[in-house]
Amino acid sequence: MEGHPVNNPDPALFRQGKSLVVAVDGPSGSGKSSVSREAARRFHAAYLDTGAMYRAVTWHCLDRGLDLTDAEAVEAAAKSVTIELSTDPDVESVRVEGVDVTAEIREPLVSTAVSAVATTLGARAELVRRQRQQIMDSNRRIVAEGRDITTVVAPDAEVRILLTASEEARLRRRGEQLQGTQNAEQLRRQVTHRDRLDSTVVNFQQAADGVVTIDSSELDYEQTVNAVLRTVFEVAH
Ligand code: C5P
Repeated sequence: MEGHPVNNPDPALFRQGKSLVVAVDGPSGSGKSSVSREAARRFHAAYLDTGAMYRAVTWHCLDRGLDLTDAEAVEAAAKSVTIELSTDPDVESVRVEGVDVTAEIREPLVSTAVSAVATTLGARAELVRRQRQQIMDSNRRIVAEGRDITTVVAPDAEVRILLTASEEARLRRRGEQLQGTQNAEQLRRQVTHRDRLDSTVVNFQQAADGVVTIDSSELDYEQTVNAVLRTVFEVAH
């Protein structure tokens, strides 16, 4: 960590026995998943990737051949589907109806279709309900990330962060994540276009009152993790 170690508490011991819900929102490519997962490890907290839940429902709808523009069908699917999502930051695992879809939900097919589920309000309501349950199940020691965690899912979180980055930085990171498998136009569609669609139902571009903005454009991974840890120490002391 930067700064003198004396000033920085041990994250694993920080607020032990007290509630520590850290809500992190941001656009795709801001680094929020990997940074939130690492913050959860350091705090010995659970980690909730809410995007994975939207992706899991989308995978399920595609698998069943459902029409994603049929709001009633998508809502019914969101309500009935069994999703098992690991909240251990060291175990990345997503199962839908018992099938391991951990890798498949990251495929471009799901990434381009997921906004159709995310903009179906009945499906959102169901996933928000499940996410609140997951937060309770963690005994409220959790880092939860997504698009509407600071505003809708956990507006009462001890710490609320909006992790942003310039469009250029976000496109570059997503490109690296997908290891050059996508051309510039495909990347732009998956990142910028998806964020535009998502913005029609949730505002994750501007920080709501009481939400701390961290801009990661000029920060590397370690610096961004440290910025999140510092913010948690400052806000939830
Ligand atoms: O974070 P990730 O890119 O995996 O999220 C996938 C999609 O899930 C987002 O593009 C958005 O459509 C949806 N989502 C959402 N609300 C959240 C988390 C994700 O609408 N809290």
